[in-house]
Amino acid sequence: MSEHSLITRYFVPLAENFAGSLFLSDDAAILDVPAGQQLIITKDSMSEGVHFIGNEAPALIAKKLLRTNLSDLAAMGATPYCYFLSLALPAPLDESYIQAFASGLADDQKTFSIQLAGGDTITSKGTATFSITAHGLVPQGKALRRNDAKVGDIIYVSGTLGDSALGLQQLKTGGTDAYLINRYQLPQPRVSLGESLRDIATSCIDISDGLLADMNHICKASNVGADIHQTHLPLSAAAHKQLEKDAANWAFIYAGGDDYELLFTLPDGIKPPPHCTAIGRITQGHRVRLLDDETEITPERLGYSH
Ligand SMILES: [Mg+2]
Repeated sequence: MSEHSLITRYFVPLAENFAGSLFLSDDAAILDVPAGQQLIITKDSMSEGVHFIGNEAPALIAKKLLRTNLSDLAAMGATPYCYFLSLALPAPLDESYIQAFASGLADDQKTFSIQLAGGDTITSKGTATFSITAHGLVPQGKALRRNDAKVGDIIYVSGTLGDSALGLQQLKTGGTDAYLINRYQLPQPRVSLGESLRDIATSCIDISDGLLADMNHICKASNVGADIHQTHLPLSAAAHKQLEKDAANWAFIYAGGDDYELLFTLPDGIKPPPHCTAIGRITQGHRVRLLDDETEITPERLGYSH
């Protein structure tokens, strides 16, 4: 099947409710930006052998790719608008793979109210690489940034920490904890939380590199330090179980990547949204410290480095 007919069959349906896509008929999309809004644009790629093993269900890979992009929009406080997709697949193109990939996207387009606006499919000589450029909208001047955390602000995190890294560990070691594996394969971008933080948060980031590494990104940008209390970190029941088995698994909680929870700061006294946990406070200086009671236990390795 030709590239053109594959696009017509599997990708035009993903664009048919979004007029700006021109239903993939022209050379580019035409986007309207509503008055008083700004476009927030992010791009994330996934490559076989690096970001996925290659034997995962194509629908899951597609969803994770879209969701990591949505998580970056959430970190900026943006509402999902549309996205562009680029697929590089080994020749010859495998129609059943593309069909499954597109069905994963169709599911998540409904879940997260976003539409395909354009993209391309090419054949590659080597492995598969997928990339999405996602566009979001935010009222003028309301985008969340990393650079305004102030000394005394309270540090919050959404959801629970470390599940994704523990899930990957399960897959690597033949473990069977379905909850943790699902958290790794299918992150939950905190889109509505991001929107609700627009008027209150002084800084925000989504946790992709690991709690301490991403806290460090906020501290660098805001020119502050942070004290985080290990005993306050929110954990799932499944993560608790892994920590009981081996205390060394704590490294997955504070340095594991791919959580896609939001890490943000609020001025002291501001009420946090639901399902968020206070884990520490912004300090003077430049260091991120992990504390057990009052003793510092900051590990050597803060998280994933690109
Ligand atoms: Mg990010």
